[in-house]
Amino acid sequence: MLKLEDTYLHKGKRKALVAELRKKGIQNEAVLTAINTLPRHFFFDTALISHAYEDKAFPIGEGQTISQPYTVAFQSSLLEVAPGNKILEIGTGSGYQACILHLLGAEVISIEYQKKLFDHTSRFLQRLGIQLQLFYGDGTGGVPAHAPYDKIIVTAGAPVVPDALIKQLKIGGILVIPVGDRSKQAMVKITKKSATEIQREEFEGFAFVPLLGKEGWNH
Ligand code: SAH
Repeated sequence: MLKLEDTYLHKGKRKALVAELRKKGIQNEAVLTAINTLPRHFFFDTALISHAYEDKAFPIGEGQTISQPYTVAFQSSLLEVAPGNKILEIGTGSGYQACILHLLGAEVISIEYQKKLFDHTSRFLQRLGIQLQLFYGDGTGGVPAHAPYDKIIVTAGAPVVPDALIKQLKIGGILVIPVGDRSKQAMVKITKKSATEIQREEFEGFAFVPLLGKEGWNH
């Protein structure tokens, strides 16, 4: 079987995954539709494809993981994506989360710290014919060249909220970032109310790979 083939079996498993996410409390229909549309198994190593529709994180190489579907759905819902939103993602990884945002109609800019993953995912997305602006480097300083952003999503666990990310948000913009220790984090949603005022909400119970770099964890 070709890796980039979307069979009825895959489509059926994807529908069941969406039903599972709904049961776990995901209500954003646009997000659920995007998850139902995007073949998650395309983003997996061939050996792991049979696991692609389990609600779990899986290895994507270089010690990194593709986030659990529930987590992708939760973060995407918190972002309140509107078509045309300019969104910065820190932690491209497999490119799955970035493609979900693209399917929601966003203009996606994504930055990845691991050169091998950046190279692999750049080539892969080109093959899929999905156009995103991908950067290689430390995303804890954001990507100032394209700022300001309507939304920013961080897909690795941070020790603190980097100031640069709040600076690069538009007024009214939303930053979603897991913050905590190296093994577990709370999802933090920050809404930039004005140049000096932010509103912060927290949701417990997440576990990401560590955010590295200047404002992240040491290697
Ligand atoms: N969004 C990804 C999840 C990948 S896991 C997906 O859908 O597959 C988190 C990713 O963040 C890893 O690929 C890791 O290399 C990357 N990362 C860690 N620290 C980073 C940093 N400072 N800047 C950019 N990417 C970073």
